[in-house]
Order: sequence, then structure tokens, then C-alpha cells
Amino acid sequence: MRIEAVNLKFAYGEKTVLDGVSFRLAAGSLCALIGPNGSGKTTLLKILSSVLKPARGRVLLDGRPLGSFAPRELARTLAVVSQGGDAGYLFTVEELVSMGRAPYLGRFQSETASDKEIVRQVLELTGCLYLKDRLVSRLSGGERQRVSIARALAQQPRVLLLDEPTSHLDIGYQREILDLLKQLNMAEGMTVVAVLHDLNLASYFAGTLFLLNKGKIEAAGPPSEVVTAEHIASVYRTGVLVTPHPVLGTPHVFLLPVQRGLNSRKNYRVHVLAGGGSAGELLRDLAEAGYDVSAGVLNVGDSDWEAARALGLPVVEEAPFSPISPARHAENLSLVREAKAVILAEAPVGHGNILNLQAATEALRGNTPLFIMEERPARPRDFTGGEGERLLRALKQNGGRVINEKARLYRALRELNSGDQLNQLQNLPGLTVDQERVV
Ligand code: ADP
Repeated sequence: MRIEAVNLKFAYGEKTVLDGVSFRLAAGSLCALIGPNGSGKTTLLKILSSVLKPARGRVLLDGRPLGSFAPRELARTLAVVSQGGDAGYLFTVEELVSMGRAPYLGRFQSETASDKEIVRQVLELTGCLYLKDRLVSRLSGGERQRVSIARALAQQPRVLLLDEPTSHLDIGYQREILDLLKQLNMAEGMTVVAVLHDLNLASYFAGTLFLLNKGKIEAAGPPSEVVTAEHIASVYRTGVLVTPHPVLGTPHVFLLPVQRGLNSRKNYRVHVLAGGGSAGELLRDLAEAGYDVSAGVLNVGDSDWEAARALGLPVVEEAPFSPISPARHAENLSLVREAKAVILAEAPVGHGNILNLQAATEALRGNTPLFIMEERPARPRDFTGGEGERLLRALKQNGGRVINEKARLYRALRELNSGDQLNQLQNLPGLTVDQERVV
């Protein structure tokens, strides 16, 4: 069934919540309404289901004004699953789902065999048959949600409207419910409109998205046109990275780290020797905690490089997949010398980046605390035929402090900052690395 909204306006008292909302949704669409909290999604859904009357504008189903449907006729055309599912605590699942047949029964008529069969079918379709004798009050959130969908389906509607059908459900149940809706849409051509909170689920699931913002439709169309970094940044006011889903190609949204802690700046430089995706989280945590973080040497395109760039950190960068050149190594050494602490991330070591280990020796040489991250020591990460391991051992023997947990690192850095600094430095033995072997 085709749905059209023409110039809808709605206000709760003085507060205008929807203004100038117009769209056309083709019959058999699978549509998700997305948008920030308070953008008007639930209100729009309530107008589409005739629960609320718009102050201006109208809704048409297959060209016919919503207002011209008698209540029973509307209930046979359109069903609603509201947030959190149906109350109906005093009833059994079967009784609640049978209520979906009410629009088909005469005033004093009880259910016919065919009504009972329809109830059985929808219980089966939604995986609720085994629950039929259970009280609704005894159901889990996921079960209650499925039962509500069964009750709506018992109405045999041509349009199904759902308000956050997957909220509070774990990923397994979310998937089950969305797959069920997709199946109903594809097999029966049912028009489905669902408010969804999760942008990735919405892109995964729906063919059409409406992005609401402050009571207006900001963008409408297929996920690839609606879920863009620009739209998301402007509507949700947060920087995101949108990349294609690795299997489906639909847009997938990732939060990007932002540099916070500017008010609690610790004002000292921490240099992170990283690479190979070993330090994204570390860089973010340090930057958020207010350290003045630099990183090197990172290959352009590496996810550590992406993280450093997103955080706006000074970084020594090398061309993609290229070994560290002498010039970049020299730059890295200067950042090591400027730092008050150096962290060697748990990166894989190959011939291309072994100079990062050598840069770590520069920290010890300058009596700068060196923290060597080893959260998963059993993991093989030396791909140089032994040279990397030998260098690491030398760093540990000559004062590099092995850290097996990020929390310990953060504690050690805080201590450095809080006047214990002198003690810390005195406790660290000076550099006695055999230069012949190390460099
Ligand atoms: P969304 O579903 O996008 O979170 P809603 O449609 O629920 O948005 O709400 C839109 C705006 O209307 C919000 O600012 C909300 O506080 C307000 N609102 C919702 N319901 C009522 C109500 N019954 N009375 C007054 N204001 C309401």
C-alpha cells in the first residue's frame, strides 16, 4: 500500500514538533525513520497510524485520506507495534494475539476456526507458538516484542508501523525481528515503516530511509544517499566515518575519536611508537586524557595513522607499505627527544618498521621513561627472523618498563605528572645498551 504525507504540521501545545513533512512511499517499501532523540519520529508514526491528527496537512493510503477510513476498516489495513510492545499483562500470549482478530469479528461474534488458524499461523511465523499459553507478564523483552508483532500481524494489515521494535534487544533478537519484517515485506509485499535508533541496523535493513531532524525530513532515499558523513555530522553533531559494509556495501557508521580533555591538559608530551593498528585506542585515550600526544613512524593508510589524523596529532608518516626512511627516522628521533615519556606499542615488527624499536633506544639514552606495551605477550609479532625480539629484549634489560595492561600505563603516566616524576626517573637505570648490537 502506498503512503503519502502532504505538508504535515503537528504541535504539542505551543511546541511545534513536525513542520512541512511531505513524502511518498511506494507500495511494498521497507522504510526506516531515523533521527536524533526528539526529532519527531514517534509523532510522525502516530500521525501515520491516525493516533494523532495533524494540525495541517494530510496522510493518504493508496490515494485515500486516512481520515476517511472507519476504525475497523483502518485496523484491517494498518497495524501498529508501539514502543516496548503491548501491555496486556493479564492475558496469555494466545489471548493477546487473538485480539488482533477483533476488526474482523462482528459485535458478539466469537472467533471462527479460520480466525484461530490465522492466530496459529502468526504465532508460528514469529516463533511464538511455544509461548502461546504463557502469561504476557512472564515474557522477556524480546519475546514480548515478537508477541506484539504477532498481534499486529493477526490484523492481516497491508501496512505495518513499528516504533523502535529492536530497542532493548540483544543483537541476536534484533536480527531475528528485522529478518522477520524483511521476510513479510518481500513475501507479502507488506509496506513496513519502522522507527530505528541504530543507523547501521537501519542501513542494513531498509531500502528507504527518512532522516528526521527538528521536525523536518533532512534527507530521504536509499541508505547510501541518506547515511553520509555530512548528514550524520550535521544532524547528530558528531564526527563519524562512513564506510561501506565489508560484505553488503551498505553504509556503515563508525564514531571517530575527538580530542577532549583540553581543559585538563597535562601539558606534557607523550610519544607513541606504533603501527599496524596497534595503538588506535591508546592514542585516543591519551589524547582524551589531555596528554600532548605525538606518534611515529606510521604508514599512511594504517589505522593508527587514521586515528592520529582524526585526533589531529603530530605524526611522522611514511608512504603506504614503505619501510621507514632515514629522514623519517630522524624526525621520529626528534619527537622521542622532545617527549617526557615514550610508549612502544605492541606492534608487529618487520624489516620495514624495525627502526621504531631503535627509536625507542633513544628514549633510554636520554633517560626518558620508556613503556613497552605487552598485553598479549604470547602473540608472535617478530617478523624479522629474531632481530626484533633481540632488540625488544635489550630494551627491557636496559630500563624499558614492560606494561601488560593499559590501566597500569595510565597510572604510571599520572604518577609521572604528579611530582613523583623525579623518583620515577631515578628508578630507571641509565642506558647500557650495547650500541654495536642495538643500532
Ligand atoms: P522522537 O521519536 O524522534 O524521539 P518524538 O516524536 O517522541 O521524537 O518527540 C518529538 C518532540 O515532541 C520532543 O521534543 C518531545 O519532547 C515532544 N513530545 C513528545 N510527546 C509529547 C507529548 N505528549 N506532549 C508534549 N510534548 C511531547
